[in-house]
Amino acid sequence: MRVLVTGGAGFIGSHLCDRLLAEGATVVCVDNLITGRLANIAHLQGHPGFRLTRHDISKPLEVPEPVDYVLHFASPASPRDYLKYPIQTLKVGSLGTLNALGIAKAKQAKFLLASTSEVYGDPQVHPQPESYWGHVNPVGPRSVYDEAKRFAEALTMAYHREHQIDTRIARVFNTYGPRMRLDDGRAIPTFIRQALKGEPLTVYGQGSQTRSFCYIDDLVEGIRRLMDSSIPDPVNLGNPDERPILEIAKEVLASVDGATSRIEFHPLPQDDPKQRCPDMTKTRHRLGWQPTITLHQGLERTVVWFAQDLRLRSSR
Ligand code: UDP
Repeated sequence: MRVLVTGGAGFIGSHLCDRLLAEGATVVCVDNLITGRLANIAHLQGHPGFRLTRHDISKPLEVPEPVDYVLHFASPASPRDYLKYPIQTLKVGSLGTLNALGIAKAKQAKFLLASTSEVYGDPQVHPQPESYWGHVNPVGPRSVYDEAKRFAEALTMAYHREHQIDTRIARVFNTYGPRMRLDDGRAIPTFIRQALKGEPLTVYGQGSQTRSFCYIDDLVEGIRRLMDSSIPDPVNLGNPDERPILEIAKEVLASVDGATSRIEFHPLPQDDPKQRCPDMTKTRHRLGWQPTITLHQGLERTVVWFAQDLRLRSSR
């Protein structure tokens, strides 16, 4: 299998590149490295099946070799990142998706869109099934990401219906694990960094808002299964283990040896969703898959990786 992965140097993208190469696929990784990192794929450079193209997929791309599958994972994805790059986020969800679909069409390749639970916005249906249309503020600060992904889903379905492209839409819920950036602003890397450095953990609001966190290895397995399925409509990929953010902060403290940080409460960002949990009924039924790694296990692995990443940074 010859796979093109946009955002292949990002957190999820780089884990996907690893998995595909381990299966014997060849991988073309396309990334402009605004939020992705060379360090995530440094171990793949020189691998005969791997090639990196530094390119912004929001601009058209000529791909010389045949491609069997296009995985479109390029996008700033943390609130801090997409607030820093609002226009690029809108462009990569719209023009980037158009270009990635264009490559799939030209190569007669299958296509998988990395969509997001953010399409559900601040949901009024709980947990969120794929049939829920969402509750999104179209002009709020998060809209640059939410609406770009909603447009990307519409575009993917249009290519499926109009050009018969074999497409998949993964609605990815909160995911965590090694290779997240310590400064990406998301809850788990932020809390781990703070706990490792002995700084207060910054919980927004009262920490009563909920999220459901999936460990990266589980997510990659879900994506692999979705790739091999033949389901064109959206599929939730995530872990239904829903927790208040305050509990996540406490779990992080429990996972860091000798942590002494206190918890500090800060204002809740605008439009921060109050609850989020995937309804996994369709996913379980159609993919025969559900996550197996517990929050405790996942946090332990992530803390080990972040501790090493911090040591490497401070020794440079
Ligand atoms: N959050 C927090 N402290 C932080 C970062 C995030 O309390 O330092 C909260 C944030 O307000 C949200 C949840 O944690 O309710 C998850 O935030 P994240 O940025 O990880 O992802 P989101 O699901 O909001 O995209």
